[in-house]
Amino acid sequence: MRRFFSEDITAGAEAVRISGDEFTHLKRVLRLKQGDPVAVFDGKGLEVTGRIAAMEAGYAIVSVEGTTTNRLESKRRVRLLQGLLKSDKPEFVIQKATELGVAAITFFTTSRTVPISNGAKTKGTRWKKAAIEAAKQCGRTRLPEITPVAALKDTLKESGEGIKLILREGEGKTIPIKDALKNAVPDSAIAVAVGPEGGFSAEDIAIAEKAGFIAVSIGPRILRAETAAIAALSIIQCEAGDLQ
Ligand code: SAM
Repeated sequence: MRRFFSEDITAGAEAVRISGDEFTHLKRVLRLKQGDPVAVFDGKGLEVTGRIAAMEAGYAIVSVEGTTTNRLESKRRVRLLQGLLKSDKPEFVIQKATELGVAAITFFTTSRTVPISNGAKTKGTRWKKAAIEAAKQCGRTRLPEITPVAALKDTLKESGEGIKLILREGEGKTIPIKDALKNAVPDSAIAVAVGPEGGFSAEDIAIAEKAGFIAVSIGPRILRAETAAIAALSIIQCEAGDLQ
């Protein structure tokens, strides 16, 4: 069954509307027609299933037959704090983190990241579109919250409850990530910070440790930032029983 995203689904409504890019995709690319079954999710955990009841100029009306909530969500609330990466790597990380069940993503700046203009704090729709496409493809009904880009020290302060990990490669003082996860209360929240292409400075690590972050290694090789994010999230979700 094809899935579509729509921000305005009212719980209990008998019909929902698919419009904009989603309607264009439904009509021009998928060539769906009246009577075809579809699912529509709102990105906040609600999804309705039903059939196309009408195809209008610019939108489709779906008659609702069933409802699901929070399908395929991870029991563990995982927050990814990612050093701002160059070019379209942020979209790649958003796509993979969404597939891996992450609840929130924050890109942060340090002395070693690309500068970001004020207007580009969440890269407008590009980052949200990456999350929508990934959620649509993997079956999630909830989009990860993508918060505006902030400086590392501010991001660390906002990292919430639960275990806080900072990925540190090379010879710096670390413990294996699996040892740090052993102390995690089942289903507790986890924040994991991954450095940018240029890595964390000693000051960055010191600020993080002061904020309660544990420096962990995910193995002997130096991984690209985006690889490290995927590897760490996979280890965390496997340990949580989300990936198995
Ligand atoms: N210092 C690295 C170098 O010499 O190329 C650059 C940083 S690495 C490309 C990007 C980030 O990935 C690091 O800051 C760290 O957060 C994470 N990372 C890469 N390999 C890792 C490993 N084996 N263990 C823990 N973190 C790792």
